[in-house]
Amino acid sequence: MHTVVVGAGAAGLFCALHAADRGPVTLVAPEAPLGAATEWAQGGIAAALGPDDSPELHAADTFRAGGGLCDARAVAVLVHDAPETVSELRAAGMAFDEGAGPALEGGHSARRVLHAGGDASGRVLHRFLAGRVKEDRRIDRIDARVLEVTTSAGHATGIVLEDGRAIDAERVVLATGGACGIFGRRTGPATSLGDGMALAWKAGAALADLEFVQFHPTALDVPGMPARLLTEALRGEGALLVDADGNRFMHRFHELGELAPRDVVARAVLRVRAETGRPVYLDARGIPGVAERFPVAAETCARVGLDLSRDLLPVAPAAHYFMGGILTDTWARTSLPGLLAAGEVAATGVHGANRLASNSLAEALVFGRRAANAADEPTDLALSDKRDSLAGPPPGLGLPLDEIRTRADRVLGVRRTGRELESLVADLDGAEEEGGAPVASLVAWLIAQAALRRHESRGGHYREDFPKPDPKWRVRLAVDAGGWWLVPVPEPASRG
Ligand SMILES: Cc1cc2nc3c(=O)[nH]c(=O)nc-3n(C[C@H](O)[C@H](O)[C@H](O)COP(=O)(O)OP(=O)(O)OC[C@H]3O[C@@H](n4cnc5c(N)ncnc54)[C@H](O)[C@@H]3O)c2cc1C
Repeated sequence: MHTVVVGAGAAGLFCALHAADRGPVTLVAPEAPLGAATEWAQGGIAAALGPDDSPELHAADTFRAGGGLCDARAVAVLVHDAPETVSELRAAGMAFDEGAGPALEGGHSARRVLHAGGDASGRVLHRFLAGRVKEDRRIDRIDARVLEVTTSAGHATGIVLEDGRAIDAERVVLATGGACGIFGRRTGPATSLGDGMALAWKAGAALADLEFVQFHPTALDVPGMPARLLTEALRGEGALLVDADGNRFMHRFHELGELAPRDVVARAVLRVRAETGRPVYLDARGIPGVAERFPVAAETCARVGLDLSRDLLPVAPAAHYFMGGILTDTWARTSLPGLLAAGEVAATGVHGANRLASNSLAEALVFGRRAANAADEPTDLALSDKRDSLAGPPPGLGLPLDEIRTRADRVLGVRRTGRELESLVADLDGAEEEGGAPVASLVAWLIAQAALRRHESRGGHYREDFPKPDPKWRVRLAVDAGGWWLVPVPEPASRG
């Protein structure tokens, strides 16, 4: 069986290595390593390996973060398979930081987060997997962007590359990462524009959970510089959030103070900035040996002339992670036979409305491997014939990327309102501007519609006009070219 894997982050690389045991593999992705969010990951990989931990505790923490929308079947797969995946990587030679054992991170009730290279975990993992793929003669690697998933008789049949070349395959796995690049303020690659979501949508597959975007509360905020992430682990080790007069404020907003959930901290930072009209700072000066313990954070600060161990660091929220994406079952199968999806591009239901820190690398590895091993069986996804229609014709060329980013920061960001969402959807309906960015425009159009439909606030979706969660909305929203429908959230913790 010939498998085409699109994307070379954690999900795509691990999938390719496993798929090679079943037949020839073609791995297609631009060579640039910084195009993969995996390379940027700092915190680590969550897996219940510590003496006081268990998959059940990991599941409970994942559910708590997910705001009632996690799919229990997908969570069960993640928490049971993550430890074994880490053991597999270790046995293959991946060098985790072994000294102090797994680390504690916000939202985790046990020491569960594995690091490699200190706060360079993603880079170490990415290079390790890329090295293994390079040595594997069964995997043919092509340096290109994919523009289309081809179909015939309701089945994915291959891909088309940017140079027009078509490659046929029995199975196509999309592992193209998230879509933070549609925002101006983002912590990840500018090239993460949601390609996989657009490819799947155009091929006829369903997407879900698009309204749920995680904003990281502490990205550097220096005018004219990219919004680089200052890892949560800094706050875990005692870094404080202070206003421009040096006063702490997080306890006004949450009993856990600086360690409150990301969405709460993000809204608090914005609120204090609005109230005072001045910046908010992260103060990591009290952490002993901070620059040595957090080399990536120290390097990030040095690049903008700041010293992590001496300076107050101006911070503001930035788009960080997409909980939503291509709707998949627990074997990474989408609603289109022959098309699978894994990693950040997929909506497995693992994260619900909000991702628990360090669950995404684990998800990319666990479901990347499952995509490689999935049987050719029909999916059990909850699809529906009864759909609500889409807003209008989808964007064609759309609006230029700069404009999408400015509008996404304002309209699709930490705080949303129905009025602004409606106006963004209307401006994108059928938009055909010269110099338009079709993929980013389509993704922004779909996110805005999903956010408009969900009349409540939950996890990574906050509506100023509906500021509370509503039990009626304990359902997932899915969409394909035929329209929108609601997906029930299964309770039983059964493995798929
Ligand atoms: C700053 C930062 C820190 C993070 N820290 C952590 C952490 O500590 N722990 C954690 O669990 N998660 C963390 N995350 C999230 C995590 O890094 C990502 O969710 C995860 O790496 C996604 O892996 P992936 O394989 O799905 O996608 P990616 O790693 O983003 O890879 C996507 C791949 O697809 C390719 N691609 C995209 N479009 C196309 C196309 N059209 N054709 C061909 N190829 C294409 C890209 O070039 C890339 O190779 C962090 C994210 C960021 C931005």
